[in-house]
Amino acid sequence: MGCFSYICPKCGKHIYSDKYGNCVGEEVHLALLDEGVVVEEMYGRYNSYGNVHVGNGSYHGLNNKPVPQPTLDINSQEGCHIWQYKSWDEVVDMCFDGDEHSGIVAIHKDCFDGKFPNIISKDDPDQGWESDDENDDEEEEEELNDADQKDGE
Ligand SMILES: [Zn+2]
Repeated sequence: MGCFSYICPKCGKHIYSDKYGNCVGEEVHLALLDEGVVVEEMYGRYNSYGNVHVGNGSYHGLNNKPVPQPTLDINSQEGCHIWQYKSWDEVVDMCFDGDEHSGIVAIHKDCFDGKFPNIISKDDPDQGWESDDENDDEEEEEELNDADQKDGE
């Protein structure tokens, strides 16, 4: 399964997926947009797979109402908040159906001003991993992905 990673629309930099180790990433505000409207949001440490870890002050809201914190072994994504507006497969479809107003937008904690834009985040070609020599294998496909994305636009 590939990682999901995003460019923060406020600063143009990517959201790190592994700032704290073991795929525990930067603090991030995530929103699920449906035709430009925020239908669900999350705040917490990014988990590399399109949502955030439970704990550390995390928040999850659906239609502006808080969703109770899940138990730690929910579904297969242990210890993470799960989007509830639609199934994960449907959320992924929203992210990749070519409509820039539907899908996930991700904003760094320090960049967030309380409002989400109505356009989803661009995918990060580095997949949220810091570029260094140890990750060369992971980055071989970077240029290919770049070409694909430009085709789509
Ligand atoms: Zn940012």
